[in-house]
Amino acid sequence: MNIVLMGLPGAGKGTQAERIVDEFQIPHISTGDMFRSAIKEGTPLGLEAKSYMDKGLLVPDEVVIGIVRERLGNDDCKNGFLLDGFPRTVEQAKALDHMLEELDKKIDHVIYIEVEKDHLLKRLTGRRICRQCGATYHLVYHPPKQEGVCDKCGGELYQRDDDKEETVATRLEVNMSQTEPLLKYYNDKKVLRIIDGNQDIDRVFYSIKELLRGQA
Ligand SMILES: [Zn+2]
Repeated sequence: MNIVLMGLPGAGKGTQAERIVDEFQIPHISTGDMFRSAIKEGTPLGLEAKSYMDKGLLVPDEVVIGIVRERLGNDDCKNGFLLDGFPRTVEQAKALDHMLEELDKKIDHVIYIEVEKDHLLKRLTGRRICRQCGATYHLVYHPPKQEGVCDKCGGELYQRDDDKEETVATRLEVNMSQTEPLLKYYNDKKVLRIIDGNQDIDRVFYSIKELLRGQA
């Protein structure tokens, strides 16, 4: 079962990815991990990627795609894989289809965890940090006992600039505009499966499980 997992920041993609690979015993292929291991192993593509990253440049598509191709050709992907963080663009999606064709494979499901924007904003702006001891809280998931005060040391809690609504909203807008063409591409190919990510974590996973087991 070859899966691409998609979702905006705050959609709970990481948590669901862990559960899916655990349940279905397939490797979790995230671009970050793949880059790190290619660089660590010193593969030619890994070194090439590193040379861009060291300069603070974006790694070009052909290098990213090359690294994905190497990874998908590994033995552990024989019975399936979960791709996370790739593809990000329609160009990359086309390249992925092409390389899978060469490997005599295809994408079976593109799972998009869809969460309402207001919900995402709440999740992404909820973090609070203690000025004194650095303890972190979350207004929704891990609220302090007393508003604005650290449970551990009584210090003042503050919100990082990165977590402020304006910054987060802009980040989401950018992400959405990148995601939309990709969703359309996969929808046209009839492999897009939309999962309601507004539910709690267990219910979201249940929906994904049912879908992958073909009962949805
Ligand atoms: Zn504290």
